[in-house]
Amino acid sequence: MKTEPMICQVAVPSPCFNSFDYLLPNTLASHPDDLPKGIRVLVPFGRQEKIGIFLGYTSSSSLAIEKLKPIIAVLDNHSLYTPSTLTLCQFTSHYYHHPLGDVLLTALPKRLRQPVHHLTGSVTITQKGIDHIPAINRKTKQYQLLRQLHRACSTLSYQQLQETFSNRTLNTAMAQELIKIQSKHSSNHVKMASYTSKRIFQAPDFTLTSEQQHVVDMLKRQKTFKTFLLVGVTGSGKTEVYFQVIQSILAQNKSVLFLVPEIGLTPQIIQRFQARFNLPIAMLHSGMSSQAQLTDWEKIKNHQLLIMVGTRSAVFTPHPNLGLIVVDEEHDLSFKQTVGCCYSARDLAVVRGRIENVPVILGSATPSLESLHNVNTKGYERLNLTKRVGSAMTPQLKLVNLRGRKLNRGLSSPVIDAIQTHLDQKKQIMVFLNRRGFAPKMICHDCSWIPICTQCDLPYVWHKHLNRLSCHHCGATQPLAHICPQCDSSMLWDIGCGTEKIETQLKKLFSRANILRIDRDSTRHKGSFNKMLEQIHENEVDIIIGTQMLAKGHHFPNLTLTVVIDADHGLYSQDFRALEHLGQLLVQVAGRAGRNKDNGEVYVQTYYPRHPLLQTLLKKDYHAFAEYLLKKRYEATLPPYSSAALVKVKSKKLNDACDFLNQLAANMRQQNTHALDITGPFPAPIEKKAGYYQMLLWLQSTTKQQCQHGIQIITEMIKKNKPPCSVRWNIDVDPISMSI
Ligand SMILES: [Zn+2]
Ligand SMILES: [Zn+2]
Repeated sequence: MKTEPMICQVAVPSPCFNSFDYLLPNTLASHPDDLPKGIRVLVPFGRQEKIGIFLGYTSSSSLAIEKLKPIIAVLDNHSLYTPSTLTLCQFTSHYYHHPLGDVLLTALPKRLRQPVHHLTGSVTITQKGIDHIPAINRKTKQYQLLRQLHRACSTLSYQQLQETFSNRTLNTAMAQELIKIQSKHSSNHVKMASYTSKRIFQAPDFTLTSEQQHVVDMLKRQKTFKTFLLVGVTGSGKTEVYFQVIQSILAQNKSVLFLVPEIGLTPQIIQRFQARFNLPIAMLHSGMSSQAQLTDWEKIKNHQLLIMVGTRSAVFTPHPNLGLIVVDEEHDLSFKQTVGCCYSARDLAVVRGRIENVPVILGSATPSLESLHNVNTKGYERLNLTKRVGSAMTPQLKLVNLRGRKLNRGLSSPVIDAIQTHLDQKKQIMVFLNRRGFAPKMICHDCSWIPICTQCDLPYVWHKHLNRLSCHHCGATQPLAHICPQCDSSMLWDIGCGTEKIETQLKKLFSRANILRIDRDSTRHKGSFNKMLEQIHENEVDIIIGTQMLAKGHHFPNLTLTVVIDADHGLYSQDFRALEHLGQLLVQVAGRAGRNKDNGEVYVQTYYPRHPLLQTLLKKDYHAFAEYLLKKRYEATLPPYSSAALVKVKSKKLNDACDFLNQLAANMRQQNTHALDITGPFPAPIEKKAGYYQMLLWLQSTTKQQCQHGIQIITEMIKKNKPPCSVRWNIDVDPISMSI
């Protein structure tokens, strides 16, 4: 007989520590082996109750045994992680300097993270509960609860019980170990899927090009961990390559993790999967209900479904027999989480590939500088698809110099002429402008008063169709006063140009054309974006006005002209990555034109036609452009030639934020024996947002180890000398933007 209490290590989301010690409930003490690592438990935490993840037993605790509290309830029978995903979470916590409990819960579908009273578990009475019944006052709720459970002879669902009993009654009974709850979802005895490739794969109705075939052969041969950077110009048939490789993985009864930037914006990828594989595809993205997310996640965990297509957080899905990881559009910024644990799903995909010993494919037409650099330094293998499939030609890029040119509300005459020409040929035209609304600001013509959002100190954007001013940083809106509050003038003019203004102007110039505007404002209703895409495919639209939403992976067969209204924002930005992102955006937008046999044209309006970036893209290609930028980064020792992290701080009190970061920087500089460059503090590009001042401290070092070591010291410092409560802080390792 064991007499010593079992001490359980539980990871609970908390800013300072990775795990906490608890006692095993008495009911479980006789068979402690029943608790597998990676299940959820409900634990008392301060005055609250929290869900934590059980990590294992320990023989001693830094606290006295009498001070330890017992676990309230065990919520699962089986681990929610595979050994690999558990290791991945531990890596994530360590590398991104984020508490393990938070990472472990982030890795679960939303439903499993919710507080216990939302659980769909089943409740049973314990032996202790049965023994307890005669001793309780019959008038109490607890008596009724135990009586009902005892009579039921089987389990009752938590939700059923909630109809009669309060959460308090239920939780108290659980804390006293009179009842226990078990989650329904954790049954592990389900039939595993087993597919043979012929039945599930619909062969394509075309043959691969020799270039595609070569790449497919290379990828199929790889059975163990290796990272491939698949660089395929838009229209080169990357997706077909993925499908062929995925087919060979499924034939081995292994599963596939396919990460995409934003499923809501690329519904076509799911349709293409469904068209080619005769089996249901699991999905994980924020547009799904939490129940649907849980269902698909479980099917992957039970190996009932073999393909998971998901966004960022899907990198943690527990595939028991994983064979391949694909990250499509690997350059896309949305793979990076920017709040909480700032992980990069692309980078973690590579880590996971190494843990699971499976190949990883990173695909893009415009690969990130990091990945290109890793081809040289980390042994990524670069595979190229240089030719467009079929007779499609690479579109011609034309720069329109705006200097000294008269503009017709944002449109130059060469652009207007080109639109007319393509309209005459019954082709589609896309006009790209990454700015919603009618005008980015208003000004009083008489006294130069500008309406600004006082929470962000930035101009309001004028949304004419809503007849409102709106702040694009905090979401605040207000009606436009038609008279200047400062000088009573009625001369309020709009300055600059957004998608709405371009729409109005195009409707005036091309009154017979069907014009469709696609931005976040026009696609607010669920399903409206899909409907608009259909309209384009049915050729019901002549001119499409779009924002970034349209730059991602869409295939419009009849589109032959792309117009970029304003290429200049990003050319001279304080963020050193702005040029990279602008180049990627221009190439991606240009790639929408001429994907069928017709020659595509791309017009780019700019005030800086001689800018080396635009010249390189114009005369050469993305590859030359990336080489140029890499050289610049090398000269400045910026990432990927160094390792960086940002300490992000926000506070409603500017002084508190500054003092805290100044102190931190001073302390770091004082004991800086570890070759860490510290820049700042300096304000974030958006200095104030929703009433919070945003300040940054930039840490940089030539090696990853030194940078990691520096972050370690700085986190210890912050934990020891806590900032004032008005200050919120976070650390972003390998940041991709200066925004908070
Ligand atoms: Zn005025
Ligand atoms: Zn605002």
